[in-house]
Amino acid sequence: MTTAMTIPIRPQALTPTQVPVTVDADKCIAHKGCTVCVDVCPLDVLAIDLSKGTAYMKFDECWYCMPCEKDCPTGAVRVEIPYLLR
Ligand code: SF4
Ligand code: SF4
Repeated sequence: MTTAMTIPIRPQALTPTQVPVTVDADKCIAHKGCTVCVDVCPLDVLAIDLSKGTAYMKFDECWYCMPCEKDCPTGAVRVEIPYLLR
């Protein structure tokens, strides 16, 4: 008998307004080549939307470790920390 291997599926963040990390598109300078928030995220959950030229949360997972918000050169990233973690 063989046991089926289960591959964990990462939840895709389909609605950007409901994820914990949001990016102000007016402030984001990804279209100028910035990838700081993507580079510093230990979970690799942020990505650049090449069609819009802005960063966004691609996968709805977060450790609330904050470097994406702290290191963004334009202050475009906002991490909404859940009430129970504050
Ligand atoms: S660090 Fe800030 S400016 Fe740079 S890609 Fe991320 S959100 Fe945009
Ligand atoms: S708070 Fe940490 S885990 Fe969450 S998106 Fe930012 S860098 Fe990634």
